[in-house]
Amino acid sequence: MKLQFCGAAKGVTGSCFYVDTGELKFLVDCGAFQGGRDLEMMNYDPFPFNPADLNYIFLTHGHFDHCGRLPMLVKQGFKGRIIATQPTRDIAKIVLLDAAGLQEEEYRRWSTKPKQKGYRGSDPASEGALYEVREPMYTVEDVEEMSSFFDVYPYGDSVDFRNGLEFRMRDAGHILGSSMFEFWIKNGSGRIRKVVFSGDLGQSGQRIVRDPDLVREADYVIVESTYGDRSHRNKDDTLLEFLAILKDAQEHEANVLIPSFAIERSQEIIYELNLFFENRLLSNMPVYLDSPMASETIKIFKQFPTFYDEDAQRLLEKGDDPFAFQGFHETESVDDSKRLVAKRGCIIIAGSGMCTGGRIVHHLEHNIESSKTSIVFVGYQVEGTLGRKIVDGEPEVYIKGKRMQVRAKIHTLGGFSAHADQNDLRYWLRGFGHTPRRVFMVHGEESVATKFAQLMHEELQVDTYVPTMYETVTLE
Ligand SMILES: [Zn+2]
Repeated sequence: MKLQFCGAAKGVTGSCFYVDTGELKFLVDCGAFQGGRDLEMMNYDPFPFNPADLNYIFLTHGHFDHCGRLPMLVKQGFKGRIIATQPTRDIAKIVLLDAAGLQEEEYRRWSTKPKQKGYRGSDPASEGALYEVREPMYTVEDVEEMSSFFDVYPYGDSVDFRNGLEFRMRDAGHILGSSMFEFWIKNGSGRIRKVVFSGDLGQSGQRIVRDPDLVREADYVIVESTYGDRSHRNKDDTLLEFLAILKDAQEHEANVLIPSFAIERSQEIIYELNLFFENRLLSNMPVYLDSPMASETIKIFKQFPTFYDEDAQRLLEKGDDPFAFQGFHETESVDDSKRLVAKRGCIIIAGSGMCTGGRIVHHLEHNIESSKTSIVFVGYQVEGTLGRKIVDGEPEVYIKGKRMQVRAKIHTLGGFSAHADQNDLRYWLRGFGHTPRRVFMVHGEESVATKFAQLMHEELQVDTYVPTMYETVTLE
């Protein structure tokens, strides 16, 4: 049996793992590469396998870096089934429709401009480099077409396809509906091997979603390692710091900008804000969710309360809607969004989470040079993105091609991360004991994955390995 790493190898984006059992061929995830122009261009590279030969795609969750290239597989002849939970199916559709819309819009804008003047592309952190915009990877119609390939399953049921492949989804606790996959695969010599893909693992104690399930044994484990080198600040400290930032801004009639991923993170931030307001820790501070995609996602969250953790379910039973409180507004149109520019003393949550596009860009443009503004980062910032540059403390950044001074106060609240930290990852891996023949560290920057592999090798006495992009390994 062969396993090929077609993404998120010595990097955090583009998750895509190809398995050829000899009898069957399948993928776990088919995400897009993100973080700067060169990485994004990799989305146009041909797949190292033939999509028409794939029997299944197992989708761990609906984030773009895990599902972003799915419609291309369908365009290129995929005829199998896509397997996921219900929320993953619905979230992936929202994410992909948004991506298709943006690509089509960008291409239309570019193709109607006089080419000799060049075009700056959509990268708001661009320093003026001119480049061509590529044709959209797929259209809204392609995404609609792809949607018909989904089969949904619940967590915890073993499903035997009776063709040498059995799988079970477990709760990964990362975003609503996220799952890890356990596979029992008959290899070339007729023996059953258990292979586990962690997908993205959540942080324990995260809001709304449950803690990640533990898996007890496996022959091979493919584990994410985004935060394999560090610990998040504890949740209580994070919340106190968050509250202090908000109160300080309120006192100075300043704005708080929260660049946030539309999926999960925005809902968690709103969940916390709801508790602040309902418990009267904060009052009279308007909150604007300026992200149509996050608003759409709230609707999906409302449809699947059975996927919530106990605390969130209890809140609902008490009659408190975590996504509604006094002073909470959702903006719809671009004009509504532009009107926010005149506001002071408010909280604005807008995408994209790494400031690579979306409505957060114009809010940054209007607020970043004011020393009163607070910008609160609540998620991982990939190298090369505008968000990463701000977090790394660069004194000047380019926004819409314009050089701007960073005078705003910059805060990073790691406690809101939807990713397991080093301790969470170690705890999860310890669940396997000494059973794995090999543990592959993926979905982490090279230095982080390497350090984490070394640590886990020493701690668990198992073979660990950091694969390279497009490397193929044999699973005996
Ligand atoms: Zn994710």
